[in-house]
Amino acid sequence: MADRIFNFSPGPAVLPLEVLQQAAIDIVNFQNTGIGIAEISHRSKEFIKVAETTEQLLRELFEIPNNYKVLFLQGGASSQFFMIPMNLLAAGKKATYLNTGAWSKKAIKEAKLFGEVVVPFSSEEQKFNRVPVNGDYTIDKDSEYVYFVSNNTIYGTQFKEFPKTEKMLISDMSSDILSRKVDVSKFGLIFAGAQKNLGPAGVTIVIIREDLLDRSPANIPTMLKYKTHAEKDSMFNTPPCFSIYIVGEVLKWLKKNGGISAMDEVNKEKAGLLYAAIDESSYYRGHAEPASRSLMNISFNLATPELEAKFIAEATKAGLNGLKGHRSIGGCRASIYNAFPREGVVKLVNFMREFKANNPA
Ligand SMILES: *Cc1c(COP(=O)(O)O)cnc(C)c1O
Repeated sequence: MADRIFNFSPGPAVLPLEVLQQAAIDIVNFQNTGIGIAEISHRSKEFIKVAETTEQLLRELFEIPNNYKVLFLQGGASSQFFMIPMNLLAAGKKATYLNTGAWSKKAIKEAKLFGEVVVPFSSEEQKFNRVPVNGDYTIDKDSEYVYFVSNNTIYGTQFKEFPKTEKMLISDMSSDILSRKVDVSKFGLIFAGAQKNLGPAGVTIVIIREDLLDRSPANIPTMLKYKTHAEKDSMFNTPPCFSIYIVGEVLKWLKKNGGISAMDEVNKEKAGLLYAAIDESSYYRGHAEPASRSLMNISFNLATPELEAKFIAEATKAGLNGLKGHRSIGGCRASIYNAFPREGVVKLVNFMREFKANNPA
């Protein structure tokens, strides 16, 4: 496909080409039904099979224990910011939140609507250039749960070790789910918007421990109760069918390519190439402290905003798209999720070296 370029967008983000090619067929005529996948009833046996297969693959690849439910919800990852405390934090109870970026800040704001929020760690004053390690903070002993964002998409930081605690963990894994192995049993709930590492926008995956389904207060809206969706296999109402279908195809691709352990290895290699290019001089400056560096989003700066603008413009011309950093920290960001090809990383690294040679600081 000569007209495809390298897409470093933070999300919606690159999808595997073979998934898109299959979807191009299925959107017109799904499995010889004569109906496209975006048109077929969510109650049809064909779509129910799609949803079941998608869930099964997710369970298998992410090693989700049997006492967890997998939900396909709408409202984006952002709706989980309020659904979690609405369902799991009773009034007057406390929860611990680690503040490592814009997405945790938003979650903290919503949680405060429902209960008491304790924030024992924040890297906000350092422009969120790091995540904590165990020992950097103490967890309030009366907390119902400990909430953290495993990968901070904007700043390019990632938890290498998860909080060590007896409390149940809750994590926003929107931008690194399925990029590495996770011991799900340590978590009460994991969620991820699909549009970074799993599929298109429109579906949010929620993995929730079954016993938590009964914690929700009775007086919250039906659609906002986890149990409503868990009891109906995410078919209480029309689910985001097309997005679920694509997630299923991405999971098939992931399995065919060696599953999570293979992804983890490739991700380390890809990110390693980029960080090496950043570290070889002071021309490029990584935003994240080395110990907190993300394998998914690599945020870096050049000497001046003008030079950064030139870098992004010339990169775009060279077929390296989506490298502009988030408006909150400026600079550049390369998002290299599972589906991002290694050759695109190599091309960017070569471009970085050429640009440096042609534009002395
Ligand atoms: C993108 C992102 C979100 C927001 O996702 P929406 O689906 O747009 O609500 C939340 N958390 C993280 C870590 C993200 O990267």
